[in-house]
Amino acid sequence: MAGIKDAFSKGITTINMKTNGLMEQNKLKTYISTLTQQEEELYSKLGRLMYQNWKEGRMDTSVYTGMMQEIDKKKATIAEQQKKIEEIKEQENQVLGTAGPAVDPNAVFCGHCGAQNNAGSRFCFRCGQQL
Ligand SMILES: [Zn+2]
Repeated sequence: MAGIKDAFSKGITTINMKTNGLMEQNKLKTYISTLTQQEEELYSKLGRLMYQNWKEGRMDTSVYTGMMQEIDKKKATIAEQQKKIEEIKEQENQVLGTAGPAVDPNAVFCGHCGAQNNAGSRFCFRCGQQL
């Protein structure tokens, strides 16, 4: 019976980890889209400012540089968030395996040796014990 319990809690842990990972990834993706929007706003602000200044015959590069540095900062923050997403995915793959959880919810676990048997099995494939 311990085998079933173990497999069950292992399954729950797997689901929790997947859910947490997805939630974390969604949070990061939302943050990235906010940053991308802010970046776009900076581009248009910069463009409008340059145009207005050009119209008025007073271009001030120091102001533009400040805004461009701000855009660079946004880009760096976006890259950081994307890296975090990659790290979460990598972590998941390491713990869960690329193929995802191998635990079949209908599998029968041998009370004698703990082996995972296919659903409907009457005898353990490993030790021959009746299931
Ligand atoms: Zn067995």
